[in-house]
Amino acid sequence: MLTGSSADALRYPAHHLLIAISLALALALLMLFWPEGEKPGSASAAAEAAPEADVTLALLEETALAAAATPMALIEEPAVPAVLTGIAAYLIFAEPETEVEALPALLPEPKAAPPPVWQEERVRRGDSLARIFHRQGLRAAELHAILESGSEARRLTRIHPGEVLQYRTDDDGRLLAVRYEFSPLEAMEATRPDANSRFSSRLVQRAPETRVAFSEGRIDSSLFVAAARSGLADATIMNLANIFQWDIDFVHDIRPGDSFHVLYEEKWLDGEKIGNGAIVAAEFNNRGRVHRAVRYTASDGHTDYFTPDGRSMRRAFLRAPVEFSRISSNFNMRRMHPIHNRVVPHRGIDYAAPTGTPVMAAGDGVVVTADRHHANGNYVIIRHGERYQTKYLHLHRFGRGIRNGTRVRQGQIIGYVGMTGWATGPHLHYEFLVNGVHQNPRTVNLPQAEPIAESERERFLATTREVIASLAEQRSDEQVALATPASAAGG
Ligand SMILES: [Zn+2]
Repeated sequence: MLTGSSADALRYPAHHLLIAISLALALALLMLFWPEGEKPGSASAAAEAAPEADVTLALLEETALAAAATPMALIEEPAVPAVLTGIAAYLIFAEPETEVEALPALLPEPKAAPPPVWQEERVRRGDSLARIFHRQGLRAAELHAILESGSEARRLTRIHPGEVLQYRTDDDGRLLAVRYEFSPLEAMEATRPDANSRFSSRLVQRAPETRVAFSEGRIDSSLFVAAARSGLADATIMNLANIFQWDIDFVHDIRPGDSFHVLYEEKWLDGEKIGNGAIVAAEFNNRGRVHRAVRYTASDGHTDYFTPDGRSMRRAFLRAPVEFSRISSNFNMRRMHPIHNRVVPHRGIDYAAPTGTPVMAAGDGVVVTADRHHANGNYVIIRHGERYQTKYLHLHRFGRGIRNGTRVRQGQIIGYVGMTGWATGPHLHYEFLVNGVHQNPRTVNLPQAEPIAESERERFLATTREVIASLAEQRSDEQVALATPASAAGG
């Protein structure tokens, strides 16, 4: 009995000592794995965490000492704070040996047939499927069988470098499945249950999630610099400038202090952004004037941009028939001609752009001339109704199907920038005539496109109100612009 109790007395302190030691060990482990400056900028968090850990360790040392000094007292009232025992319990349970022993028992026994392994081959420059199959030691007959398995499989004849072909075979190296990703949204799969069956192919399509993002910027030097700084993609900047092209001359009229606010769509897939969508609403403050646009899809499915009060952002003519190029020479009736060195009125605008830059029809109309002239080079004249005519000179070549009598739509490509005829470098010479008289296409008053139809008006206001409000809410700067309805109407 006495021996028993003394044995007990001995056992308890030993037990407690064990706990204390394992706690100390566990904490030492914890200290070892304590993240040190784990994330950049988390220095303060680490600095706060460290002293706390020191305190804990000090407490533990005290506990261990106490356990050694006064074993009996510890039996009744463990001096280890409840929080610490909690930590210790957690840490002891998380000990590697425990895990290694416990886990295999939880996992199901592996089945006899392991899942077939997919192999990958990246498409190289100049590759064809036949080449890839050959390289991978796959049979040409199997490629043929896949291509014959359905119309979806025919898409495999258009592959691009960098894309990945995945496939798996049976033990004899005979193809069982092929998977080809054309984009994150679209893949083709051809499979068969065994080497003696036929392939069946299908297109796997995924729909991205659309999120609306907000971006804004203030211009110091150029729109592109400001937009890039605000995180807008080039394509979105282009869209922004296209929407406001009739109200703002992005080549000449952008000033430091101008600002923009944009709501636009982003496409997401599996928590990853895969691209941008359309602009939903935008505001551009140019030289003190506020311009706003909102996207609207009418009941007939036609989508376009309008001012918040329902006027079209478009005009019957594009302000410029070339996208975002530098205007090298302005409209000037008294300029010196660079080749002839005498005053030759310049009745149009020269858009310097690389050879091959698409030239668009400024408005709907009919091509009255598509010809070649020693001075004009390849040139096109379009008639737009009774009053208007536009001319496009020095083209490298004509657009597809452009000849006398061709009907064209606004924005349709009628040719490509070149330097045919009298030209010192690749550029488009563009003229705009009203009733046979040359006008400056930059400043001429352009006829407006149709506003929102009366029958659509209620629906338009109802669906766009929220978007316009959301754009205003997310602006970081002052809301002054909202308070001036006159400027909100745009210009
Ligand atoms: Zn010119």
